[in-house]
Amino acid sequence: MKPILPLFVFVDACGWEIIKDDPFARTIAPNRKKLTSVFGYSSACVPSILSGRWPEQHRNWSYFVFDPKNSPFQSLRPLRWLPEALTSRRIFRRWLSKFIKRQLNFRGYFDLYNIPFKHISLYDFTEKKSPLQPQGMNRGPNIFDFLLERGVRYHVSLPERTEEANLAALIRDLEGEVIDFAFLYWPGLDGLLHEVGNQSPQVPAKLRSYERWLDELLHVARQHYSDVRLYIFSDHGMANCDQLLDLRATIDALPCRMAEDYVVVYDSTMARFWFFNDRARQTVSECLNKVPQGRIVPDAELQQMRTFFPDRCFGELIFLVKEGVLIVPSHMGERPIRAMHGYHPNDPQSYAVVCTNQAAIPDDIVAIPDIYRLMTWEAEGLAKSVKVQAPTSSEAPSLKVQ
Ligand SMILES: [Zn+2]
Repeated sequence: MKPILPLFVFVDACGWEIIKDDPFARTIAPNRKKLTSVFGYSSACVPSILSGRWPEQHRNWSYFVFDPKNSPFQSLRPLRWLPEALTSRRIFRRWLSKFIKRQLNFRGYFDLYNIPFKHISLYDFTEKKSPLQPQGMNRGPNIFDFLLERGVRYHVSLPERTEEANLAALIRDLEGEVIDFAFLYWPGLDGLLHEVGNQSPQVPAKLRSYERWLDELLHVARQHYSDVRLYIFSDHGMANCDQLLDLRATIDALPCRMAEDYVVVYDSTMARFWFFNDRARQTVSECLNKVPQGRIVPDAELQQMRTFFPDRCFGELIFLVKEGVLIVPSHMGERPIRAMHGYHPNDPQSYAVVCTNQAAIPDDIVAIPDIYRLMTWEAEGLAKSVKVQAPTSSEAPSLKVQ
């Protein structure tokens, strides 16, 4: 029997609005708090949770950036001659993404999404390392560096495994009492919400199945650890997409040309532009100012959200749509999806959550990067008790990293 287990369960897209009227995990983690998310997608939110810092600090924000000099995709240019009927198919792109990921030795999540091969060599991909591993951030340390440095043995989910397989792997480590910190990651709700929207009866059904898994997990954890300190948390919520915006058609109709006058990445809820001349900057800006479904985000607001990059690495101009609008087709997808995240953090569906069995959530835990502080506090408490137990050992604790 071990003394303490900090148990952090990350339920992707389990937003405040998703569970505020649902009894999700009420019996096991009754203390709930609404948290502000980070502007951006999971590519920004997850690294912020794992590092306790904001995108302007860790520089993990959006996946694709204009950077032809450093583009690893030069070898894909010949694919532009393949028929679009093939190259725009999800199944082909998924297979190719896996192949490229291996070829380029990318460690994190990688997907080519819907970037046309004609333009792929204009872009670099910014998540070459996995934020779920030590030294996985673009800049600075994450929680796994923190744990490694202190000799805290931990468990972390592997994204390539299913949710059930990650649960089973954690349960095995708990039964073996080989870890003193656990980070479980469940992405299934996010995928489901994208597909069915936030009002589908499948959403509460999924929450109920998570509760069954959590009960199983806690049952095992309590047999092996006398104090299980449970935190269930999310990165953002999910908004239904009731309005589609073909922004690319509007921009393509302007007297400026992609790759000659400007470069753009169409994400699902934003468009990020780089300009090669003032005329293009002015023409595109004037056009965007007339699009009622969104607005150009001023630098001051980007600074407030801590997603302002002085080198404009992620775009010189950021256009953001209103909650519920989906840019489609985009570089993220050719076809509409039912729901999306990545809107303004102040939009209702953006808010995340933390639920715990601990009596108090400190007042200064207000946004998702603060979850890092909860993790380090818990791990520090643990690090101390490890020290008290084995003061004479000169051996470094063995590390189990998976
Ligand atoms: Zn998502």
